Amino acid sequence: MRKENNQLKFKRDIPLVMISLTIILSLCCSGCSSARNTPVEAEGFYMGTVITEKVYGRNAQKAADEGMKRVEEIQNKMTIQTAGSEIDNLNQAAGNGQFVSLSSDSLFVLKTALKYSALSQGAFDVTVGPLDKAWGIYTNNPRILSQEEVVRLKKLVDYTDIEVNDADNTARLKRAGQVVDLGAIAKGYAGDEVINVFKKYGIKSAFVNLGGNVVTLGSKPDGTPWKIGIKDPRPAAEGDQIGVLQVDNKSVVTSGDYERYVIKNNVRYHHILDPRTGYPSKSGLISVTIVANISIDADALSTSVFILGLDKGMALIRSLQGVDAIMITEDKQIVITPGIKDNFTLTDEGGTYTYHEET
Ligand code: ADP
Ligand code: MG
Repeated sequence: MRKENNQLKFKRDIPLVMISLTIILSLCCSGCSSARNTPVEAEGFYMGTVITEKVYGRNAQKAADEGMKRVEEIQNKMTIQTAGSEIDNLNQAAGNGQFVSLSSDSLFVLKTALKYSALSQGAFDVTVGPLDKAWGIYTNNPRILSQEEVVRLKKLVDYTDIEVNDADNTARLKRAGQVVDLGAIAKGYAGDEVINVFKKYGIKSAFVNLGGNVVTLGSKPDGTPWKIGIKDPRPAAEGDQIGVLQVDNKSVVTSGDYERYVIKNNVRYHHILDPRTGYPSKSGLISVTIVANISIDADALSTSVFILGLDKGMALIRSLQGVDAIMITEDKQIVITPGIKDNFTLTDEGGTYTYHEET
């Protein structure tokens, strides 16, 4: 009788034991998975490019989802590819005298763009839109513009024609036909904002890559730095790299003439325009990688330095705190600034470059 009771008790206890075991196991597994550091990886297509995120730790999924939503939100405010965005409204009102309301996001990016337009003495010019639209390098219908068209459109490019009214968060463009284009800076801002979302969720280790604009948060979960490959701008084989940068808590942004371009009559027409000539920039640089703490700075500077060329670009970098660069010239030199030389490993898979460390 007693034995039977015991058996009964035993049988009745099985589900309880199983439930507790399941709970313990699942608790253990969530602990194990963060101990194993399985990241959440997410991918989206916004701002005309592929966005990837890799996020480690508790709340990684929520952080990754909200990060991606933030990119979409920024895209929708700043795009000039679709009508009705804040920046499109600003452009549509060009020359009509009206000030246009902007969100704090758009205003901040516009003002930062103005700062870099001034700092680069107009090499970076956020009103490059009329030229950029006409060339259409990033579209399916790029055109080679006539000299007359370039001369006419170039007159519309002048960042000093932007008036910002801080008192009521508005801005306007002075002349009809002028177009603000945040293409060289908005992805940088979006990268910073994704990292802010990650931080809000307490994430300590993550990165976001917006079509080559990389922003890292912390180091890898094992404490080692993130490794970021630097592309060979003239690869012998697809995917060739010239080296690898190791960084943590930094943004790494590259501007090059090799991502978006058309070749006509042996001339490479790429998407980084020199506002002083109206043509794709021919400064002697074919790739500029900027390493900085903030991605909006890195993005604006990669475009600015690309247009300024090696000497003026180097002078600009040296004038700024905590900014480093890898510049690649068309005559196949790689020039690196002192602050990151120890973080860089030259691989030069194509074997065609000479390497120079600035002192
Ligand atoms: P990517 O967008 O490929 O990362 P960049 O950050 O260098 O490269 O930005 C290039 C984009 O910036 C162009 O597609 C155009 O929208 C815009 N742009 C082109 N020339 C200039 C310029 N001189 N100043 C500011 N923006 C520019
Ligand atoms: Mg840029």
